[in-house]
Amino acid sequence: MTDTNDAITFADLPLSEAVLKAVQDVGYESPSPIQAQSIPHLLEGKDLLGLAQTGTGKTAAFALPLLSGIDLKQRDPQILVLTPTRELAIQVAEAFQRYARHMKGFHVLPVYGGQDMRGQLRSLQRGAHVIVGTPGRVMDHLRRESLKLSGLKTVVLDEADEMLRMGFVDDIEWIMEQTPAERQVALFSATMPYQIRKIADTHLKNPATVEIKAKTATVDTITQKVCMVSGFHKLDALTRILEVEPFDAMIIFVRTKTATVELAEKLEARGFAAAALNGDMSQALREKVVDRLKKGSLDILIATDVAARGLDVERMSHVVNYDIPYDTEAYVHRIGRTGRAGRTGTAILFATHRERRMLRAIESATRQRIDTMRLPSMSDVRDIRIRQFKEEVGKVLEMGEELDMFRELVAEMEQENALSYEDMAAALCFMAQKERPFPDGKEPEQPRQGRDRDRGDRGDRGDRRERGGRERGGERGERRERSNEGMVRYRVELGRDQGINPGDLVGAIANEGKISGQSIGHIKLFDSCSSVYLPEGMDKNIIQTLQGAKIRNRPMELKLWTGEEPPASERRDGGRRDGGRGRREGGAPRREGAPRREGSRGGDRRPRRDNSTS
Ligand code: AMP
Repeated sequence: MTDTNDAITFADLPLSEAVLKAVQDVGYESPSPIQAQSIPHLLEGKDLLGLAQTGTGKTAAFALPLLSGIDLKQRDPQILVLTPTRELAIQVAEAFQRYARHMKGFHVLPVYGGQDMRGQLRSLQRGAHVIVGTPGRVMDHLRRESLKLSGLKTVVLDEADEMLRMGFVDDIEWIMEQTPAERQVALFSATMPYQIRKIADTHLKNPATVEIKAKTATVDTITQKVCMVSGFHKLDALTRILEVEPFDAMIIFVRTKTATVELAEKLEARGFAAAALNGDMSQALREKVVDRLKKGSLDILIATDVAARGLDVERMSHVVNYDIPYDTEAYVHRIGRTGRAGRTGTAILFATHRERRMLRAIESATRQRIDTMRLPSMSDVRDIRIRQFKEEVGKVLEMGEELDMFRELVAEMEQENALSYEDMAAALCFMAQKERPFPDGKEPEQPRQGRDRDRGDRGDRGDRRERGGRERGGERGERRERSNEGMVRYRVELGRDQGINPGDLVGAIANEGKISGQSIGHIKLFDSCSSVYLPEGMDKNIIQTLQGAKIRNRPMELKLWTGEEPPASERRDGGRRDGGRGRREGGAPRREGAPRREGSRGGDRRPRRDNSTS
């Protein structure tokens, strides 16, 4: 490793202390290019035209500086963010909440079609510093005068080209006319079609323009593949790849320092020789880790971009982009960690459907088509484990291990118990493979390889309905049988008698716990309590926050569900309908038997003890 962090850091940016602290909490190591360029302009109060797509970190690029300028005493909306879909509205609101965690009394309110209007009206009355909404519903509230923009300081038009595509241009124009003349405007768009340029010309004053330029590079020695997988399925996909793909050393890129540690722990727990490499580690420690990788006592590094800068390890055969990079330059830099010293390398990219634009940009930057890789199936995993098992048995015999004592033992057992050699060998195989079971080869629940739905389905039906003036929206009231696999059931001490509906629970959990609406599973309402499925292994701090969170001013008192359900007559199915697309079809990946092994090529893979893939 040659260098340290020579990039701009968050501390170099004049963000408020509370915001800087939150950034540190979430583990961002350094600003992404769009953030480094946009934040100073937005802090200065300038209008901004940002050419950036999803995945570049653009939400924080506007949320961090705008939060830094918020006056918490003013309860009227100071920032209005318009987004094309309710999914994005929720995500942006969640991001604001996350970055404002140290701003006491801060309130952000997502408003979108398909959401209960009365609840929204009440929330608006209570006041919010930031409103994030879809154009149709924001218009509704402006007409009803339930939303007042007189105190507005900044308008953000997020994914403007998507809003255009969805037919919101006139709505945006109308909303812009309702905003005070002296407001700041930030417009983000992945592309700049004529109509968006026109909006920018009309409503932005001397805007600063920031653009993430694509840098091209040839990467002839590297085979690139993409695996369409997202969220909870990533870990399962990664472990399958680690089992099946022959590799020497591998570097896995993630976005945050926290993620390096978490993923390293998960892989270690699954028997892989993995370690984290991040900017929080001292230079000496980082060098030690890299040295272990070079010497082969470690096979997998989980790193952030900053920590991996300049890393040069000849045996690095694979790069996995577990989290897609912010721009093509970072991508080229990442994959350049392999294919070194005249060797060939493989780069595997995990991408979601919504990141397909970045994928296309990467293809054009690297002037290579990136083929979609087939995710190893459970039967591939089974085959490889069986093959390795056979090899291990063969190796013991080949190596001339001292087996005479065991031969005598087997003969003795055959005599004493009249056991056949075949039966004994089978029983011994069974005992030996317990450590690393052979899956039955069936797909318990296929990790979705195709179209990612968690935020990708931008044809957001809720919002379209909203435009048709219907309030009932979305999948409301539908009962969906969703898999709760990979989730844990919790109890909330509020139910129908307290006037709670599933939307309240989703809203409170998503907002207070800062977890995505999509991660919230099935909800059931009873008279005096409710139950909700939440992802397994949730951070303790999130659970603690949720324990103290309130709905309609009453504490949720979230705790693990134990005991029986109330009688059926009392049960009313919440049939969650929040548009939690990500989980509707699959739920979290099912746990499967997984290997324990050192991750080196071929026969060196040694099972240690049993575990799960996720
Ligand atoms: P966006 O482009 O706003 O959708 O952000 C994409 C993802 O990048 C989100 O999951 C953010 O939490 C994450 N992210 C944003 N900024 C940073 C940063 N500076 N370092 C690490 N992750 C980030």
